Amino acid sequence: MKNIPLIDLPAPAVTCSSCAACCCRLEVLLITDTGVPQRFIAVDDWGAEAMLRLDDGWCAALDRDSMRCTIYEKRPLICREFEMGAPECVEERQGIATVYR
Ligand code: SF4
Ligand code: SF4
Repeated sequence: MKNIPLIDLPAPAVTCSSCAACCCRLEVLLITDTGVPQRFIAVDDWGAEAMLRLDDGWCAALDRDSMRCTIYEKRPLICREFEMGAPECVEERQGIATVYR
């Protein structure tokens, strides 16, 4: 049998366009007012505000066809600071790799 040389394959690129919005299943507390519409806000018994999540865990502001944020210009600070390719991002992607499109 012919020997096939082992090669180093490049690691798959981490980009939001190849991701099923994994980070949009995390709890997102609203710590500043960025203008998130009230219908997407959940308030707990102590008055703390967070993005409303649907029964399957995804943020209610996520467009489920395009998997894009429908309130991008008004998205919470935490979403703005969540960095693509950062350890938290990679961890989330690995957590639900089976739903990648
Ligand atoms: S920031 Fe990371 S986890 Fe969030 S959508 Fe982009 S690639 Fe996916
Ligand atoms: S507000 Fe937008 S970016 Fe933030 S979790 Fe919801 S859908 Fe994702």
